[in-house]
Amino acid sequence: MAEIDPWGSLQIEDYTKLFEEFGISPFKELLPHIKNPHRYMRRGIIFGHRSYEEVVSAMKNKRPFSAMSGFMPSGHAHLGHKMVLDELIWHQEQGASIFLGIADCEAHAVRNIPWKECHRIAVDEYITSAIALGLKTEKSHIYFQSKSNSVKDLAFELGCRVNLSELSAIYGFTGETSISHMLSAITQSADILHPQLSEHGGPRPVIIPVGADQDPHIRLTRGLASKMRMFTIEIREERSGKRYISVRGKTAPKEALREVAERTERELQTRTRLFEGHVDIQTLEMERVIEITREIELAHNGYAFIPPAATYHRFMSGLQGGKMSSSTPESLISLTEPPEDAAKKVKQAKTGGRVSLKEQQRDGGDPERCMIYELLLFHLTEDDRELEEIYRACKDGKLVCGQCKREAAEKIQEFLREHQKKMEEARDELEEYNRLLA
Ligand code: SF4
Repeated sequence: MAEIDPWGSLQIEDYTKLFEEFGISPFKELLPHIKNPHRYMRRGIIFGHRSYEEVVSAMKNKRPFSAMSGFMPSGHAHLGHKMVLDELIWHQEQGASIFLGIADCEAHAVRNIPWKECHRIAVDEYITSAIALGLKTEKSHIYFQSKSNSVKDLAFELGCRVNLSELSAIYGFTGETSISHMLSAITQSADILHPQLSEHGGPRPVIIPVGADQDPHIRLTRGLASKMRMFTIEIREERSGKRYISVRGKTAPKEALREVAERTERELQTRTRLFEGHVDIQTLEMERVIEITREIELAHNGYAFIPPAATYHRFMSGLQGGKMSSSTPESLISLTEPPEDAAKKVKQAKTGGRVSLKEQQRDGGDPERCMIYELLLFHLTEDDRELEEIYRACKDGKLVCGQCKREAAEKIQEFLREHQKKMEEARDELEEYNRLLA
């Protein structure tokens, strides 16, 4: 089985194998049910999901839901980070409460970055950019892992339910891996689950927008959410073929299980049988049973976590082709670099153009292999029709790379100038975070 390493450098070439091997569902099936989908959704950049239908239902029925992401403050925020921020902001516009975690514990443990530097990078790069891109801080919970007792306490609790073998199988930890590095993996699970703590309003769907390389965290955390539940609920079948719901009290106190029997009998007008450790309910009303058991679990100081949902997006390639990497500055565009430098990088980017102008006009270009087209697709062209026209003109040989690059370079300069101006304005809002770090 292919291993996806969240700290490694794997470029995932074949996204479809993720559907088969890891059970990620195709996103396009949900698209007709989403009002005003984001361009990443419309254009197949978000290609897969886990449990996103629960988020779609919450959006549709105006029920509470949250969106969460964490950023490791280890370098400049770039267009790859912008993708996640765009997704958070879109979900905020759809009614989500937002959780933006700064993974300073991870940066300190895994990259050895001093705390003060972690905090400076977090504020100057990530938080300021988030505000400049449109995140409403008054409707967001922005926090540092190292300063959040509820995240750290939850990480400790979750740590009781996972062992070294499980973590090693997912992340490839060895005897050389530091304890803090392992702890940072569990802390990320706590980041993902803590929007469901009672202090934030209790269990609810939470969407985590990630690149496919982050799926191990998602799988680990979904597993932990289930392990933390007091009850397991399943449909069983009698010998006669009649089906019923069985609720098992994994860690539930006896009174809690008795309450499940009493409440389901009363509220669903059905027959129940209470056994040592489980209760059988003559119903198939799964939704109602889940709701009742969740309420009982919370009343008995349980967490009643809903496994987090995730969307998976494609990675942007590096400007030179290949992988985008922070250690190769010419492969990416950071949100704080001088706009003229970014324009220069765009003009030197790899295109899908032909060797000569004559060939290009005769055979057309290859936008699928062009970094300029990818920039337009991901970030620089909001209008689908305009993008389609560029694609067509390129394919038909009516657009040539020199002109196309010049226009893209102009667009990136314009975007960065505007973004950096908004970053300056956002600095007024940053008082609170600077106080947190004092
Ligand atoms: Fe890329 Fe534009 Fe050249 Fe087509 S014309 S290959 S989209 S740079």
